[in-house]
Amino acid sequence: MDPVTEVAARFRALYGYEPEGVFSAPGRVNLIGEYTDFNEGFVMPLALPHTAVAAVARRTDGVLRLHSADIDAPLVELRVDELAPLSDGGWAAYPAGVVWALRGAGHAVTGADLHLASTVPTGAGLSSSAALEVVTAFALDALYGLGLTRPELAVLAQRAENAFVGVPCGVMDQTASACCTEGHVLHLDCRDLSIRQIPFDLAARGLRLLVVDTRVQHALGDGAYAERRAGCEEGARLLGVSHLRDVAYAELPAALARLTDERIRRYVRHIVSDDHRVEQVIGLLDAGDVRAIGPVLTEGHASLRDDLRISCPELDLVVSTANAAGALGARMTGGGFGGSAVVLVEAAEADTVTKSVVEAFAAAGFRTPRVFPAVASTGARREA
Ligand code: ADP
Ligand code: MG
Repeated sequence: MDPVTEVAARFRALYGYEPEGVFSAPGRVNLIGEYTDFNEGFVMPLALPHTAVAAVARRTDGVLRLHSADIDAPLVELRVDELAPLSDGGWAAYPAGVVWALRGAGHAVTGADLHLASTVPTGAGLSSSAALEVVTAFALDALYGLGLTRPELAVLAQRAENAFVGVPCGVMDQTASACCTEGHVLHLDCRDLSIRQIPFDLAARGLRLLVVDTRVQHALGDGAYAERRAGCEEGARLLGVSHLRDVAYAELPAALARLTDERIRRYVRHIVSDDHRVEQVIGLLDAGDVRAIGPVLTEGHASLRDDLRISCPELDLVVSTANAAGALGARMTGGGFGGSAVVLVEAAEADTVTKSVVEAFAAAGFRTPRVFPAVASTGARREA
């Protein structure tokens, strides 16, 4: 049975009636531009073929019922008028937070029944949480006829994660899940939230982008994000700009010379240079020189490893092994300290590079990584 039919069938079995619609929203992987989002800079995500699929129906009695096929937990039943931020709802906080954010923005969402299943790996830095939020927001917008745009849904989904679940993420993940289109990478300007779809048909050029999920998550991650964020804000303050986005790449040496704190200097150098790398990648893609983005990805990894210092031995091993085995370039992607890396390879070399990485992980005593191609896929959509 295909996933859409299966989710609809399970909705029926669970709630005893037909869903009004089945919707999907993807996970994402970020090609380049890391930690730049909260500095109001640039990011370049693409949607993955992995999706959260939700069967949904409206309710008029204020009841919200949530169930996930992927989690061994009973149905969660809540009242929409009693939803409160940081209520410890576990996984249900993500979809419930979306209902809370929609209602907080003045939209009359009077309840829903929802059942979902997702193929987005959780905790791998591929945004299973954003997929969950965006599929909920997209479904409720469609069923309640709210008329919100995709970027507006993304911002509401981000509010759900920030203020209801309590995770201080930027808007990239939700925007990617809501706005990406097939065969494109999304250029998102995190200052004005303007977006541009850039053709990214790797197969047509004999190329492949591999995602390597290291299947590790180092505990360091949580506090480190807040620390980097505060450090970037401090850097902007010391340089007299509202956000590091405002430091032009050409002015970077002068800006660095004004900073005495070595740690702040490293953070500033990463952010300003990564914004520049996004612009380089856009220039190369626009010029049709896709292979040339490889070295830019690898430079981005060095910056994340040495300046922002958010890599880990597993991610560094992916990058060094893949490049030594003939990849065009590679970098860690996402929040760091584990999660996933992206590797750009000639399609003909994909198996060789994959094998080298898997063998290097075995030799190092690391968990076997999960490797799959990132085919630029569609954003949220109605399936049935
Ligand atoms: P990431 O977004 O990188 O995958 P997060 O920690 O942000 O990692 O989000 C993972 C959380 O999202 C899970 O712990 C769970 O609460 C929720 N989640 C994701 N996918 C599902 C699912 N299929 N069913 C239930 N909850 C899910
Ligand atoms: Mg997440």
